[in-house]
Amino acid sequence: MSEYSKPLPGLEGLTKDFYGFCKQESLHFQQCSQCGVFRHVPRETCAECNSFEWEWTKSSGRGTIFSWVVINRALHPAFYDPSPDAVPMAPIVVEMEEGVRLVSNMVDCPPDQLEMGMPVSVVFEAVTDEVTLPRFRRV
Ligand SMILES: [Zn+2]
Repeated sequence: MSEYSKPLPGLEGLTKDFYGFCKQESLHFQQCSQCGVFRHVPRETCAECNSFEWEWTKSSGRGTIFSWVVINRALHPAFYDPSPDAVPMAPIVVEMEEGVRLVSNMVDCPPDQLEMGMPVSVVFEAVTDEVTLPRFRRV
């Protein structure tokens, strides 16, 4: 798994905790202990009620395609090579059942087959020894 050369998340603070759950093939989001609202990306304060009280809650792993963009020209050297993550590719925004949105990629759907509202579920791809990324497949 040492061949992965694409950008990786910085594993620090709450982001490290988020990807720690991913490494266990489990998707978790922060949930406010005061008002119950979920949030992502990880941060200390609830945007709804300003509470600092929260806990990690396991996600259903299900959501729908909220948006995407098709990239046809590699703008980073790591995407020049012919790999599944190379161009054309379509980063997606998934709206999870918990209400949070997550930027990711599909594993089984070429860009021209994406549809608004398409039901998807999370899968996990261990791209390095340290980092496992949440990806999505069609339901
Ligand atoms: Zn809150």
